Amino acid sequence: MLIIDCHGHYTTAPDAHQKFRDQQLAQLKNPAAPAATPARISDDEIRETIEKNQLKLQRERGADITVFSPRASAMAHHIGDEEVSQSWTRACNDLIARVVGLYPENFVGVCQLPQSPGVPIANSVQELERCVGELGFVGCNLNPDPSGGHWTAPPLTDRHWYPFYEKMAELDVPAMIHVSASCNPSFHATGAHYINADTTAFMQFIEGDLFKDFPTLRFIIPHGGGAVPYHWGRYRGLADMLKRPALAQHVMKNVFFDTCVYHQPGIDLLVEVIDIDNILFGSEMVGAVRGIDPQTGQYFDDTKRYIDALKIPDADKRKIFELNARRVYPRLDASLKARGL
Ligand SMILES: [Zn+2]
Repeated sequence: MLIIDCHGHYTTAPDAHQKFRDQQLAQLKNPAAPAATPARISDDEIRETIEKNQLKLQRERGADITVFSPRASAMAHHIGDEEVSQSWTRACNDLIARVVGLYPENFVGVCQLPQSPGVPIANSVQELERCVGELGFVGCNLNPDPSGGHWTAPPLTDRHWYPFYEKMAELDVPAMIHVSASCNPSFHATGAHYINADTTAFMQFIEGDLFKDFPTLRFIIPHGGGAVPYHWGRYRGLADMLKRPALAQHVMKNVFFDTCVYHQPGIDLLVEVIDIDNILFGSEMVGAVRGIDPQTGQYFDDTKRYIDALKIPDADKRKIFELNARRVYPRLDASLKARGL
């Protein structure tokens, strides 16, 4: 059985990468400041940041491959204009491609998108094509709220998003619904904004008819699906009240939850409530919650332990760890098969 972690970020990228971002931001404040140019980063710098962090933890915790994307909180689509977002996004994705190039057995790429508030999502299609077609990435992170906590974009079921979905369907790649930093002080980024967005996206899917138009489209809602599994009765009841079809047909053929829930009772609930076929192993390391749980003595985000501890058949664990991810990310499945896995 392969252990595929569907949710990892390059949160430890070399300092020079952040300096490029800082230059971008400085130029936004002062157009006379020197133009920002993507950092020159050596392979050794990348090795150093990966081997001490994500690769070390992957090995220690017993995962085989991580679906790897740029640091989500740093996407910050609300900062600057479309051009700033485009060049930052390209630099971030190029860096992921470098990591995958150095460690092709351990990481597979997922891209961030050059979204900007008020800019048509069609303008993100080219970067998706580049990342999938040229860099060999297997999916993308789609931000439902490029405004960073003000929710000015239309719901994910609105035709606004359709040009992007058409390309996702054509390339047969899924998207993880993933917001970025919050510029609204009412919403802590990882504690409130992320979980709000997960929950909000699910409710949007209930209200809309997106999967009638795009029956093959696939979304991963991270962080265990936000509040959704805990409130499953509410969502089933709302679907009924709103005269929507049952969730199994209406949403759950296309929507998957990861296991980035950082305690055993949460994982127990997830697996009890949500069909095994809709759960993908994920840890989001090194990410949102990096500490050790004093109650267990283990890292909060060592989510493999919680799944190992579940009293479910091994065949179901294999679905969570491997088979569901291979189904949701067909390009990952193809590359694994090409390696004889
Ligand atoms: Zn994440």
